[in-house]
Amino acid sequence: MRYPSLLNRSSAARALTAGIAALLSAGLGGAAEAPAPGVTALLCGHLIDTAAGKVLGETTIVIEGGRVKEVRSGLQAPAGATAIDLKTQTCMPGLIDSHTHITGQTSRTEYVDRYHWNLSDYVIRSTVYARRTLLAGFTTIRNLGDSANESAALRNAINAGVVPGPRIFTAGKAIGSTGGHADPTDGLRQDLMKDLGSVDGIINSPEDAVKAVREHYKLGDDVIKIMPSGGVLDEGGSGDNSQMTLEEIRAVVTTAHDYGFAVAAHAHGAEAIRRAVLGGVDSIEHGTYMDAEDMKLMVEHGTYFVPTIIAGDFVARQAKVPGYYPATIARKASEIGPLIQATAGRAYKAHVKIAFGTDAAVYPHGENAHEFELMVGAGMPPMFVIQAATVNAAALLRHDKDLGSVAAGKLADVVAVPGNPIDDISLMKRVSFVMKEGVVYKVNSVPVDTGL
Ligand SMILES: [Zn+2]
Repeated sequence: MRYPSLLNRSSAARALTAGIAALLSAGLGGAAEAPAPGVTALLCGHLIDTAAGKVLGETTIVIEGGRVKEVRSGLQAPAGATAIDLKTQTCMPGLIDSHTHITGQTSRTEYVDRYHWNLSDYVIRSTVYARRTLLAGFTTIRNLGDSANESAALRNAINAGVVPGPRIFTAGKAIGSTGGHADPTDGLRQDLMKDLGSVDGIINSPEDAVKAVREHYKLGDDVIKIMPSGGVLDEGGSGDNSQMTLEEIRAVVTTAHDYGFAVAAHAHGAEAIRRAVLGGVDSIEHGTYMDAEDMKLMVEHGTYFVPTIIAGDFVARQAKVPGYYPATIARKASEIGPLIQATAGRAYKAHVKIAFGTDAAVYPHGENAHEFELMVGAGMPPMFVIQAATVNAAALLRHDKDLGSVAAGKLADVVAVPGNPIDDISLMKRVSFVMKEGVVYKVNSVPVDTGL
């Protein structure tokens, strides 16, 4: 898998961070010492050990060069380090959303804007969505579909320190079949419909599938997204029919794995889920009509489930607002949307591996953390849902060496909430502190001006 460089950011942001830390440490003791350049200590009231599934007591996280240098019990900053006081907070690793579309966002005019907006209109807005996502505590996202690989440009701008945002692993355009959930010309007047091909992510044979994956490699994407079933927000008639053959799915997966890509499969229908799991995909997204046989297969194959309950919840509510969606979409949204939470609860009980993901863009960016409450509402324990958004999501990204827990050697992505989220999961919506690769973006619930 080709990952974006994980450690590049502007030296200006680095210097600024040191400045903020120095400011915060004033009056905390040890201020007379000259701070060791680049060493920061987070003094946390509690730390969630996501690897062990435990809430630890007072803990100091020592950070240098964008990585965690040491995790010490007790509140003891090393001599000369600049300290940040999080004594009333619970710290945890940066959160990971495994399913976003960062370059678009729902609105009442979304289906009309498509005829008026250029790609640049979406891209400019995406920088705002990226900042909101980061400030909500999501330091890493998997972007599962855009329209012209524009999320790769956003990823590169964030990595270069040009705009603030989460670390992005992008699928570029989703891969699907003619007239299916990935076909952007569904529902249009016939003279506007196009016969799209592999370059556009539209495949109709295993040969097309191989080529489409190689196109993504050529474009520098990080992960592959396929559409083996119908979906809610396109203008096709079915939200859950099977839209890819087993042979096409196998061709995508075999080629993707050759190139080190994981494969995420959008699937609502039970048959489409079965084919995707048998075809070897790494995750099933949404999974609305997942049946007992699908769950058994997913456990056997080690396939992750990314529920996106918040998206189902949001579209079911918006479908009741007259005119918000085109009629076909409103019908599918009210059929499928309300079912996902119960499916997620059954999958948890069946011991299917679960990673946190929300389908951000289907609902407004920055509200990602509401998914935690919905997962708990489905019957999952609070610690489990936090692990789903950290260690599990990092494993699904194939990036658990660097992400998913706060430990020596890992990237310094740390967030905090005011209180214990195990007692009150709604605290996840009140992230008060955000650090990504050692740079502070939010402290005391206030965004930091990083000069970006
Ligand atoms: Zn999606």
